[in-house]
Order: sequence, then C-alpha cells, then structure tokens
Amino acid sequence: MRFDELGLRPELLRAIDESGYTQPTPIQERAIPSVLEGKDVMCCAQTGTGKTAAFALPILQRLSEKKRANLRALILVPTRELAIQVGKSLNEYGKYLDIVSTTAFGGVPIEPQQMMLRHGVDILVATPGRLIDHMWRGNIDYRNTEYLVLDEADRMLDMGFIKDVTEIIREIPVERQSMLFSATLDREIVTLAKNILKAPVRIEVAPPATTLDEVDQ
Ligand code: AMP
Repeated sequence: MRFDELGLRPELLRAIDESGYTQPTPIQERAIPSVLEGKDVMCCAQTGTGKTAAFALPILQRLSEKKRANLRALILVPTRELAIQVGKSLNEYGKYLDIVSTTAFGGVPIEPQQMMLRHGVDILVATPGRLIDHMWRGNIDYRNTEYLVLDEADRMLDMGFIKDVTEIIREIPVERQSMLFSATLDREIVTLAKNILKAPVRIEVAPPATTLDEVDQ
C-alpha cells in the first residue's frame, strides 16, 4: 500500500515524503483509515513500528478539516523523552498545516508551558503528573477535546500513573475519539481500554525487525 491510498491530504503526504517514508508500516496501514473513519482504536505495538505516525497523521488531518479551538487533542505519554519525540513528530508531519502543538512534562519550569496553554494550542502532548499540575492551576480546558491518545499505556501503568490517568480522562468529554497504544495487552490494560474506548478496532502488529506477518485479532 502507498501513503496516497490512505486518504491523507497533500500537505501531509508532502511532509511524509520529505521525512523519507516511502510506504506505510503495517500499523499505519491499519490504524490511519480507522482513525480517519472516526473509530476508537486499541493497538498492540512497540516502539519502532511507526506507531507515532499511526495516530499523529490522522489526528492532524482531522484537526485541519475543522476550525480552530483550544485543546482539541490530548496525547498522554509516560515520559518526557517520549513527549519530546512525539512533539517533534507532530511538528514534522504537520509542517504544512496550520496546527499548533505543545508539550508539557515535569522537571522543567512550568511557566513557559502555562503561557503556551493559556495562549491556546490544538494539540497537547503531556505526561500525567505535569498535566494534573496544570489542571490544578486552571491552565486546562477540556471542553473542545475530541481526540485522546494514550501512548505506551503499559508503561504509564508500570510507572504508577493509573490514578492520574483516570483523573485526567474523567474530565475529558465522553463525546470523543480515543486511541490506546501499548506494547502488551495484559489484564490491566484491557480493563483500562474497556473503560475508555468505545467499540475499538483492535490492531496488533508484530514487533519491528522480525519476519512475522502482522497478526489480526
Ligand atoms: P515509532 O514507532 O513511532 O517510534 O517510529 C519509529 C521510527 O520509524 C521513527 O524514527 C520514525 O521516524 C520512523 N518511521 C515511522 N513511519 C515510517 C515509515 N512509514 N517509513 C519509514 N520510517 C518510518
């Protein structure tokens, strides 16, 4: 399959091309059309499978089709490193679109993040602890939040973020599209998925650098 068969707009195809991607990875091939159709997805995929573009591209596309509003998409990640990486990917893929994204993670001063959030952004990539901090400070308004991504959900649970994640998700409108990505699908993850996803499309792909065919579930 080619990227131009996935229903992505020219601005995104151009950015993908400039990133040097010649064809979608299995997870992208499966997740992008589902997200564009408005479905919730639950993906069992490790780092290296191209999971970031699998959610970033369709979210950028959907956001670009509608008028601006504050905080239309929230991407929750376990670590600051991942927040930075996902933020970079959003900027790279979205460079020909008028979409503003920012990151919020701990271990750095909160004020610059606060200024960005109060100014208004389309997409926020955040770690749970720092996001709760911003919520307490009144920096977050979820009224327009239509897209929710839990990236590396298994790591988020391993790191003890379940309480924070639950508290955050409780505030997000129920009328939303949610995506959960996890390297494992153990019982805890399945329970979390049941609580936050609606009739999700389940996508499982083999870890990268193996010769296994992708597995349909
Ligand atoms: P991820 O699994 O999202 O962490 O992505 C792993 C790496 O694969 C990143 O360096 C991406 O830039 C790269 N990547 C993502 N999608 C593709 C693609 N379709 N073709 C080639 N490289 C890709």
